[in-house]
Amino acid sequence: MAYRTWQTIKVRYCHHVDAQVDLEAQVIYPADLLPDQGPRVSGHRCSRAIACNLDGRSSCVWAGTNPAYDPFSETI
Ligand code: SF4
Repeated sequence: MAYRTWQTIKVRYCHHVDAQVDLEAQVIYPADLLPDQGPRVSGHRCSRAIACNLDGRSSCVWAGTNPAYDPFSETI
């Protein structure tokens, strides 16, 4: 049976929430019956996106309220 999990791939300080947040990827590992098949990434999310989306302010692409700003694409 395939195994699906969320894994942190980047960590950034987000000024919008004044906290450290994680960029997470949903990774699907194949069933043991298919050992030659590698894991697949099916999606990404910010660890604080849901709460951020509900605070009423425009924030970033991960909250769905500002497609022009992605805090995880900034170099540090
Ligand atoms: S959704 Fe965007 S603005 Fe909100 S905490 Fe995550 S990175 Fe910061």
